[in-house]
Amino acid sequence: MSEQRCLFCRIIAKEIPAKIVHEDDDVIAFEDINPQAPTHILVIPRRHIASTDEMTSSDTETVGRVVLVGAEIARKLRLESGGYRLVSNCGEAAGQTVFHIHFHLLGGRAFSWPPG
Ligand code: AMP
Ligand code: ZN
Repeated sequence: MSEQRCLFCRIIAKEIPAKIVHEDDDVIAFEDINPQAPTHILVIPRRHIASTDEMTSSDTETVGRVVLVGAEIARKLRLESGGYRLVSNCGEAAGQTVFHIHFHLLGGRAFSWPPG
């Protein structure tokens, strides 16, 4: 990923500013620029994986850590009692606009099902 890095790889490289709420060796999390709920955080692996469709068995630990960090942030923000969503859109038709795998952590309001 040297040339033409994706938007989230550029956020990871600190070339584009973001409100980072968590950072470790494998995972970073930052506030969504266009929040859809009172809490809207994006949790992503540092390593570029385009989407869940691009995942292989070698990515299971990395993506598992992303999900766990999402749950830990939710707990830290006390979202679990009111419920929250931890979701990943895969493909344009499902609403994916940035092709670096990410989980939206949404909380602080009620959510309907099925989603639109
Ligand atoms: P998705 O549509 O599932 O691919 O999610 C991409 C998310 O990235 C959207 O919710 C956008 O609002 C968010 N987003 C786009 N650009 C930025 C940025 N520079 N900083 C933070 N979030 C962003
Ligand atoms: Zn990327």
